[in-house]
Amino acid sequence: MEKTLEQFFYEQYKQAAGHKRTLEQYESHRYQLKQKLEALLGEFPDWDKPASEPVKETVREFEDYRQERYHVQLGNQLEVPFYVLTPLNGKAAHPSVLALHGHGYGPKQIIGLTKKGTRNLRSNAQSDYALQLVKRGCKVFAPALLGIGERIFQADAEAGRDKSCEQLAKLFLMEGRTLLGARVWETGRLIDVFSSFEDVLPLGFGIFGFSGGAAVAGFTAILDERAKAVVLAGYPSQFRDSILEIPHCLDNYLPGILQLSELPGLLGLISPRPLFIETGEKDPLFPSESAKTAIKQMEKIYLQSGSPEALQHHFHSGGHEVDGSLSYDWLARQFWKRENS
Ligand SMILES: [Zn+2]
Repeated sequence: MEKTLEQFFYEQYKQAAGHKRTLEQYESHRYQLKQKLEALLGEFPDWDKPASEPVKETVREFEDYRQERYHVQLGNQLEVPFYVLTPLNGKAAHPSVLALHGHGYGPKQIIGLTKKGTRNLRSNAQSDYALQLVKRGCKVFAPALLGIGERIFQADAEAGRDKSCEQLAKLFLMEGRTLLGARVWETGRLIDVFSSFEDVLPLGFGIFGFSGGAAVAGFTAILDERAKAVVLAGYPSQFRDSILEIPHCLDNYLPGILQLSELPGLLGLISPRPLFIETGEKDPLFPSESAKTAIKQMEKIYLQSGSPEALQHHFHSGGHEVDGSLSYDWLARQFWKRENS
């Protein structure tokens, strides 16, 4: 009998996902999986030059925190603007967190600023999670991601668009690399830069990412052990029900990834480090049912890694947005535990 197109592609998918290892094999292949993932994200040896010293542009003090804006030139010769929020709590050093924004107008959106840089007292879908974390005693670094908000092609900026993901993703794909890989590479180099701030406690970093920022946060955390505690909001799911089912930005796609694993098997590589997953019950882009399936698989991986309690989740009643009612305190608490252990 002839196959329908749906049957054909479903079987293709199952075959690719069939490369997925059993849980035991997955555990013994963790190191190799990470190496293969790194290669598949794309390699950037031509970018391996030292970063410049960060340059401070502005400082503003608010009632309980200081907001500074810097830029730094990374080894790829691109200038990356970033905000630093420091708690004014009298302490000489602070636990530190990277806050990675999703699509939108960039880091200002998550530090309580409007696109023009004035104070934004209304909350938005991305909420102001960087601000909420500085209020919990963390020093927060919020860099601008390549291809979004402030870091887009001039033509897109002039046309009033707020991303250049598609053009960039196509360019990287044609080079055998990926835009997601480029963002992960930059995030790693930025962690080098942020580690040199004098008032950063040597505890490693927390990472909080939402949506496209959670993809960068998740893949960075898989590959970079300096990520000691991770919150992924509006992203964890199965590829099959999210980016393969629903139209998504091209920056999500990683050629060959199903030869390695579906998304839960990859995010499981963060174990045994603490990971908190936040999902909106009504998220239309990364559906909550898919997140539930993903979490079940990841729970098995965390159990096998000997740290079942390190994986936590929260399903809130919202859509594709940050809720934070449990995740902010959870992340701050991870550092409190590390400081006192
Ligand atoms: Zn994008």
